[in-house]
Amino acid sequence: MLLATDLDGTFLGGTQENRHQLYQLIAAHPDIDLIFVTGRGVESVMPLLADPTIPRPDYIICDVGSTIVDGETLQPVVEVQSQVEELWPGESQIHQEVEHIRGLVRQDVPQERRCSYFCERDIVEKHKEELQAIADKLGCDVLYSSALYLDFLPKGVNKGSSLKSLIDHLGTNKEDVLVAGDTLNDLSMFSYDFKGVCVGESETGLLDATEQDARVYHASISGAGGILEAISHFGFLGEEGINAESRDLIEPGNSDLVIVYHRLPYEEYVEDGLMKQRPHKSPNGIIPTLAGFFEGGQKGAWVAWSIDDPALKEFTIHTEVDKEKYPNLVAARVPLSKEEVDIFYKRFSKEAFWPTLHTFWERATFEEEHWEVFCKVNRKFAERTAAEAAAGATVWIHDYNLWMVPAYLRELRPDLNIAFFHHTYFPSADVFNVLPWRKEIVGSLLQCDYIGFHIPRQSENFIDVAKGVMPFEVTQRSACAPRFLTYGCALGLDEMTTEIKLNDRYIRLGAHPVGLDLKRVDKVLAKPEVQERMTELRSELDGIKLVLSVERLDYTKGIPAKLQAFESMLQEHPELHGKVTLVTVCVPAAKEMTVYNELQSEIEQAVGRINGRYAQVGWTPVQFFFRTVPFDELVAYYSMADVMWITPLRDGLNLVAKEYVVTQGKTGGNGVLALSEFAGAAAEVKGAVLCNPHDPVEMGETCYFALSMHPDEAAGRLHEAYDVVSYYDIEYWGEEFLSSVAACAVRNGKGKKSGTVAAEVVA
Ligand code: UDP
Repeated sequence: MLLATDLDGTFLGGTQENRHQLYQLIAAHPDIDLIFVTGRGVESVMPLLADPTIPRPDYIICDVGSTIVDGETLQPVVEVQSQVEELWPGESQIHQEVEHIRGLVRQDVPQERRCSYFCERDIVEKHKEELQAIADKLGCDVLYSSALYLDFLPKGVNKGSSLKSLIDHLGTNKEDVLVAGDTLNDLSMFSYDFKGVCVGESETGLLDATEQDARVYHASISGAGGILEAISHFGFLGEEGINAESRDLIEPGNSDLVIVYHRLPYEEYVEDGLMKQRPHKSPNGIIPTLAGFFEGGQKGAWVAWSIDDPALKEFTIHTEVDKEKYPNLVAARVPLSKEEVDIFYKRFSKEAFWPTLHTFWERATFEEEHWEVFCKVNRKFAERTAAEAAAGATVWIHDYNLWMVPAYLRELRPDLNIAFFHHTYFPSADVFNVLPWRKEIVGSLLQCDYIGFHIPRQSENFIDVAKGVMPFEVTQRSACAPRFLTYGCALGLDEMTTEIKLNDRYIRLGAHPVGLDLKRVDKVLAKPEVQERMTELRSELDGIKLVLSVERLDYTKGIPAKLQAFESMLQEHPELHGKVTLVTVCVPAAKEMTVYNELQSEIEQAVGRINGRYAQVGWTPVQFFFRTVPFDELVAYYSMADVMWITPLRDGLNLVAKEYVVTQGKTGGNGVLALSEFAGAAAEVKGAVLCNPHDPVEMGETCYFALSMHPDEAAGRLHEAYDVVSYYDIEYWGEEFLSSVAACAVRNGKGKKSGTVAAEVVA
């Protein structure tokens, strides 16, 4: 079967349920050829192609028949389009001829091989003969419709003529074709003896004109539902008709809240052919917080990948997380091969997405095959999630590794309330658009009901990127102050978009910087061995000020620039010699990440150079620890550091900054946080001394300023920072996010149930 359909009012019209049913039917029948036949220009059809719920057409006839392109490549079907091109005089020719007619206003929509204007009826009446004469002279047709639109088109070209040429070109049997429309401008499609449907609520003119045609069916249901009715009426798709097949719709599960996260809430290891569980070695605060939502006995699932290890006797999908603490939480494991994990998680995400997201797009490499693995893995996550979620449940998806999950999930489960939190930086459109799959990614994210980022700037960057993919209405904007900085740092913003309307759906956006688990810091500080370590460090550092730097080995963290700035500071201020030490903790990357080798040797050389130049007996200017330091030890360092120097060139948030502030606050310290204004935390944590890590002079000066700050000022700044970090902790983060998601469900009139669950969780 070949379905050639008008878009607005027909294929895109009718109820959401009918649209979903039709789109699923087409997806389930790859043998159906689909042609969009529309008055829109190609560029106005593109947003539909980025919408993962709409089936991709094989061909698109645009501009009321003047443009005929392949649906996949969007390149012209030359054999058909060249016939149109021959007839077209060119838009400037037409424009020159009609320019002098007052009241003719060019329509501000994309258009090709067609010139369309707005024009009142009296103007058209007044210039009727002249307009016709111009059209005749240039060999065009001139059409006037809906008492407003005046169109110049190549002579004899309309939706029907181009469709007929395309079908002849494809060699499709006329009997296999169904055309669908709803307005008079679709009439030409019904003139070539194809089977046709005028969907419910079609324009009377179209109904009257096709009434006597036995091959045209007048459906009672409007939009997509009318097409379904006609498919059944004409007996397309065999005897079983439309109900014969539909894509494997997944039966709802019974989880009211589903967390979709790359890591399981526990660590796994294989012993004697059996998969065993143990707590995570380095809990980052997020996992216990998310699991905490299930403490009251809420039913839920945690979807994460797990290696389908050939050494295992069998792979079990469901495992318990902690029967005592979370009696109704199950882990739902997505089996992945080692190779899939390697490509999806370690290589592709790190090589293509990580550099681009952090604005280092020149470092990114893109491989189509890896993208395909990425999509396949994301689909597995979506299928597992769809099987776990109860009707109207809330699904909370985490981070860029799972970007494509909303697209697949929405198709499988339109009822769900889908939320996404982006844990990394989100760059501006100039950078993000470098990604070859930007449209697919944005199309997927726009299937969510709620999207959260750390700070307003990242959210607004996403909005800017989305604007380049499809049109939407901004329905709500909110002030960023007083929670966030406005003009005070590079990532500040005074206002952000918090709600958009896309077709008939509202999507909300919010800024939710991840907070800290304060109890974790309390526990560490209460340990006698940590107290002892602090005393030890205090005596070791007698008379020496400590500047601390803690980060992973990554080019985003600005480590070479920091070392250079430290060196310049020592050069500028000889009085600091013997009085200040920079302790740099640098967590190595996994061995196979060879991209970091060069950076590592650059850092080692810089450390060697500075120490070689300035070290004295009893004083080493830079102490470099190239290893992971246990959190307990880190806290001891945090409590001793006079200045915490964090200089990323770009960072989603930066938890180290918050850990330092909390440790200082809880130990009565008055250390100074010197922070890059390109770290997300800079827009939230007030009281920090901000600096631009791209300016080595300013960086050195900032460190000097922090070192020489009067203790009263330092205490005041720390108090301000501690107030923010201790109030907006990790629990606040989780609760604020979920209650925003619940409010969004109410806004969309969705799953009251999921709203209640989230509200209960919040309560
Ligand atoms: N961290 C650690 N040991 C180290 C260095 C860092 O445990 O030797 C922890 C640190 O406490 C923090 C996390 O690693 O919680 C780093 O998070 P951040 O947001 O600062 O940076 P990211 O690594 O996410 O870019």
